[in-house]
Amino acid sequence: MVAAFLSGQPQVGAVAIYDSYFTYCKSYVTILGVQPPLVLDGAVAALGTRHDKERLISPALAAVGLRLVVTAIDTDAFGTFDASVPRSRSAQATVAAKAAAAAEAEATRLGVASEGSFFDDPAWTLCPTNVELVALVDRDTGLVVIGRSRAPAPWARPGTDLRAHRCPSRRPNIARAATDLAERLGRRCPSCDSPGVGPVRAETGRPCAWCGGPTLDVARVVSCCPACDAQMVDDIDGTADPGTCPRCNP
Ligand SMILES: [Zn+2]
Ligand SMILES: [Zn+2]
Repeated sequence: MVAAFLSGQPQVGAVAIYDSYFTYCKSYVTILGVQPPLVLDGAVAALGTRHDKERLISPALAAVGLRLVVTAIDTDAFGTFDASVPRSRSAQATVAAKAAAAAEAEATRLGVASEGSFFDDPAWTLCPTNVELVALVDRDTGLVVIGRSRAPAPWARPGTDLRAHRCPSRRPNIARAATDLAERLGRRCPSCDSPGVGPVRAETGRPCAWCGGPTLDVARVVSCCPACDAQMVDDIDGTADPGTCPRCNP
């Protein structure tokens, strides 16, 4: 019967065996606590926002097949910019908690949320810095994937209303964080097949075009899987501008 199935002849009994074998494999995997890899194409995610961020976030996530439904959870309960409700966790923990709350409110497997922060970083820019995070949370597996974007925010002065719907300057940065999230979701782990692989650090030392010595240019980018912590290294081909070489341009 199995031979007939493999030879391509229509065989009702063989299909039943194949189906039950598949069901057996699936239940075996569930018993072991291993989830099948998350399928994003056609999936629905709840977006928790009260501040009209759907138009900024949904186009990027549509590119990986995700459809967003807006749920008006009280995101202010997780902390506000005017500190009337202090944020008790890190920005990353806050955005993940918001996304999980959105998924719970809509009874969906997936939740999406965003979170903005402002801080002074004298090493990077002389004005305040705006960091936007957009997170996707999978309630079934506990997977959290976070997209980021960072931009100078010379307009962020004391007394500015920084909420996204009142602060047009934040909006392109939120859209870029959503694009970063979509790029991560589009890259799957070669070890466990989870989506969400993204860069975690860059290492310098690309060879100089003149002397071949290590320069300050990026030589490789290390990416990490958010599900199994596997690391992937992408080497950057080519030589570096001697202007970044400590020997040729001391
Ligand atoms: Zn050199
Ligand atoms: Zn993995």
